[in-house]
Amino acid sequence: MAIDYESLLQRGFSKIPEKAFKSSKYETPKAEVTVIGSKTIINNFKEVASRLNRSPNHVLKFMVRELATSGTLEDARASLNGKFSKEVVDDLIVRYIKAYVLCSSCNKPDTKLVREDRLTFIACEVCGAKNPAKTLI
Ligand SMILES: [Zn+2]
Repeated sequence: MAIDYESLLQRGFSKIPEKAFKSSKYETPKAEVTVIGSKTIINNFKEVASRLNRSPNHVLKFMVRELATSGTLEDARASLNGKFSKEVVDDLIVRYIKAYVLCSSCNKPDTKLVREDRLTFIACEVCGAKNPAKTLI
């Protein structure tokens, strides 16, 4: 008897809750970095932020604070003062995800930032946990 592999696969997938399936596809976005003069341009900044499901402003705030520099949003791009390598920017994205995207209870990225009483929380849509996040000023 031949095994209908396709339908076995489909049955397997249908048992996985939609949210878990979405999370398993999560990949860390990578920055496209160009250094022009004394500035570092992140060409796909807006896309990176949207893949993280966070506002570009919040991601930029985190980066400029970590790099102790300043920067601006320019349409889809971000411009940082100073020369930074792609490795440095990619590392910051990973650190941002750990600090502001992943749920510290279940480690899933399906979360959103919620502000309450001047504090920021990471609210998880998978397990319902609400954990405090570092406040960015
Ligand atoms: Zn969770």
